[in-house]
Amino acid sequence: MKRIILFGAPGAGKGTQAKALEKKYGYKQISTGDLVRTEVKAQTDLGNALKAKIEKGELASDEDILRMLKKRLEKEDIRDAYILDGFPRTLPQANALATVDVDEEIVVYLKVGSEDTVVKRILSRLTCHDCGAVYSAGENSPTPGTTCTQCGGIAAARSDDNETVARKRLRVYRAETKPVIQQYRQMGQLREINGAPSVDDVFDALQAVIGVEK
Ligand code: AMP
Repeated sequence: MKRIILFGAPGAGKGTQAKALEKKYGYKQISTGDLVRTEVKAQTDLGNALKAKIEKGELASDEDILRMLKKRLEKEDIRDAYILDGFPRTLPQANALATVDVDEEIVVYLKVGSEDTVVKRILSRLTCHDCGAVYSAGENSPTPGTTCTQCGGIAAARSDDNETVARKRLRVYRAETKPVIQQYRQMGQLREINGAPSVDDVFDALQAVIGVEK
């Protein structure tokens, strides 16, 4: 089994690239953000507590995230390969992940220059509230509230995709997740690619570091 870990700031394009890998190679995208949003939608007690955290730009607890991820990893569909999008975000999460064996692990960091660049991307993107498809401004972007071209759901801004929360998420990313990236770098496992160019160019670079045929 192969595991790909995608690191990058909020808005760096992890979800878009993970979806492209899933579509082309069948690797399963596991977005812990999607797991959280599914729980929120179900309006369980946990979901309601998570909603409050997401909307403030705070992280869910390691315990809650690990429980949701463990359940997801029990499904058969990830047997060949899976992509972690948005996990691990803290050192305890990374340490827990290290106990989950795989044959091969590829760790990629999508680097995007300035904070303003990612905030701009976050503010211009729409996400389908049903299937999670992401639309960026300028790239076949529907207007908010229109139909998702993938599933027929509604594409709109995520509730945490506003400027105040986006900047808070970036502060949390620097404080909690940057040390995790640094840990993989020190272990010599981190492969860095430039996440600033177009979606297609980043995907080319990603396929090259993963070592798959284009
Ligand atoms: P994302 O879709 O990856 O931007 O995640 C949306 C929100 O879900 C984050 O701002 C956190 O509140 C929560 N979340 C997602 N993944 C994690 C994680 N690995 N650890 C803690 N909270 C998470």
